[in-house]
Amino acid sequence: MRHETRATAGVLYLVATPIGNLGDLVFRAVEVLKAVDVIACEDTRHSRPLLDHYGIGKPLLALHEHNEDAISSRLVDRLLSGETVALISDAGTPLINDPGFPLVRRAREAGIRVSPIPGPCALIAALCASGMPGHRFAYEGFPPRKSQARKALFESLKDEPRTLIFYESSHRVEETLRDAAEIFPHTRRVVIARELTKRYETLVETQIGEAALILAADPEMRLGEFVLLIEGAGDRSTADELTHEQVRVLKLLLTENSLKTAVRLTVDISGARRELAYQAALRLSKEEADQSSV
Ligand code: SAM
Repeated sequence: MRHETRATAGVLYLVATPIGNLGDLVFRAVEVLKAVDVIACEDTRHSRPLLDHYGIGKPLLALHEHNEDAISSRLVDRLLSGETVALISDAGTPLINDPGFPLVRRAREAGIRVSPIPGPCALIAALCASGMPGHRFAYEGFPPRKSQARKALFESLKDEPRTLIFYESSHRVEETLRDAAEIFPHTRRVVIARELTKRYETLVETQIGEAALILAADPEMRLGEFVLLIEGAGDRSTADELTHEQVRVLKLLLTENSLKTAVRLTVDISGARRELAYQAALRLSKEEADQSSV
């Protein structure tokens, strides 16, 4: 369906705001926020310090998940009467796991011009700095809170060829990585991107089998805001990689057996492909030898 833009109506601007560093508000965002009639934001108390910092004194209107239907209708009426409106969220780009979808839908259906003022977005910032392929990626938002549903989601994504990106809170990040390690192959790379643009910005790259251990070992690493990136399966499928469980079995067997026997038993016990188990056994034995020579 094509929506004609009404020339007499105002414009709805979607303005990205910083994800932690106040200096990251883009120049055009400041100009637009100073010029609009009203700024819709998730929480007026949260946005006021940012706006004060830039000398922006426009009226604020709260638009959050509990009132967005009613407020969106009111804002569309104001836009139709010729007012200009900016939508911001607490942090980053509006609508990316933030309110605004009903407002944008309704504005577009009413023929109102919707114009983005791009800027910070945690998933894009994390992806660019992660060293993972950025030409194709799948953003999955927050994984489900319950472990069973989370594992089911990971199961459905384990052969996904694109880089996977998730948001996660500090309360669940360790559990989520533990669940991911049960489903994705042990050697899949993962990047934990934490507190981006802030004082304790950290990007840690590791294998998925080790990721939860890194958080368990360091309480500081469990604090703040997180983006998790999991390497896609690329051209491989999970059938081309050993699972976490298969690696665990192989490691155990290698402690008591020759390489050849450990590989044979791993294949028999876990159904791993022989050549994959063999390659992994060579790698694990080399790592072990390197460690004992230090
Ligand atoms: N609209 C925002 C955006 O454009 O990124 C996302 C809002 S969502 C409600 C908040 C989540 O984004 C956080 O729980 C965290 O997963 C991620 N996030 C936001 N700021 C971040 C930062 N500075 N570093 C890492 N992750 C961040």
